[in-house]
Amino acid sequence: IIYTLSVTYYHQGQVSEKVLPATDMDFASQVETALDNQQFFMMYQPQVDFKTGKLKGVEALVRWRHPEKGIISPEKFIRVAELTGLIVPLGKWIMQTACAQAAQWKDHPVLGKIEVSVNVSALQLKSGTLVEEIMQILQDTGLAPERLVIELTESSFVQDDGENARLMHQLKEAGIKLAIDDFGTGYSCLSYLRDIPGDYLKVDRSFVMELPGHNKAEAVIQAIVSLGKSLDYRIIAEGVETQAQADFLKSIGCDIVQGFLYAKPLEADALPQWVSVAQPETLT
Ligand code: C2E
Ligand code: MG
Ligand code: MG
Ligand code: MG
Repeated sequence: IIYTLSVTYYHQGQVSEKVLPATDMDFASQVETALDNQQFFMMYQPQVDFKTGKLKGVEALVRWRHPEKGIISPEKFIRVAELTGLIVPLGKWIMQTACAQAAQWKDHPVLGKIEVSVNVSALQLKSGTLVEEIMQILQDTGLAPERLVIELTESSFVQDDGENARLMHQLKEAGIKLAIDDFGTGYSCLSYLRDIPGDYLKVDRSFVMELPGHNKAEAVIQAIVSLGKSLDYRIIAEGVETQAQADFLKSIGCDIVQGFLYAKPLEADALPQWVSVAQPETLT
């Protein structure tokens, strides 16, 4: 890949041009090198089902083990990966790694049955080959499609010319599940909710943070839960850090919780241990 100072990228369904500052250009070439040199790795954060108290799934979260700077958060490099298009090969590697990992747990009594959620950038949808790529990965790894959840943020749905919704129906027909990530933070246009075949709504951490006791935050979450439920979504709350937050979320009918109260993102090797020690049944 040859970088120019001006990159063409997709934003809200439009092709745009953006001039990357030189520091980003340098960073972009480091991201590319990191991909070649296998400096990325995945962590997996447990998601607990309120009703059964059991582990429902894990969210796969990428990390960069930088040779000098140590572990770098995706918040620092996903944006540059998107601007340069590197998110396409990086996203493919992420999908491959997470599916292979989930398939590898097949003989574990708990981990062999749970879902793995993978974050997919709107730009990966635009690449045009995402669905075929995922189907190939499922075939190669032997992971059942029912065990894969694709997480997309609202920006993938608004100002969609219909193409993204079509891709989502294709994924759905293949048995793959769909989660709407960071719900409530992006846009107020809700019409996409009835057009896409979503399974999960993830309430953003910024709402959960203000619970409980903040009347307006409580009202917003309650409205999201009842809207989501009436459209047959299961509701996942992210960023749950305190028991008081969990109690409130449970009382208003939230289905699934994810957050430091239960577990931080863990390395794959640490999950069997977490399952046997933490015993999700006792967590909720
Ligand atoms: P996200 O998909 O909303 O992921 C949830 C983020 O919240 C994760 O941050 C997770 O570590 C963090 N989190 C979970 N529970 C708590 C909590 O109780 N307290 C606090 N303070 N934080 C909590 P992370 O791993 O740094 O990822 C940040 C964002 O980067 C993700 O937000 C997602 O948008 C993006 N990202 C991460 N991995 C990937 C990936 O593999 N592909 C793509 N395209 N994006 C990714
Ligand atoms: Mg996510
Ligand atoms: Mg999220
Ligand atoms: Mg979030």
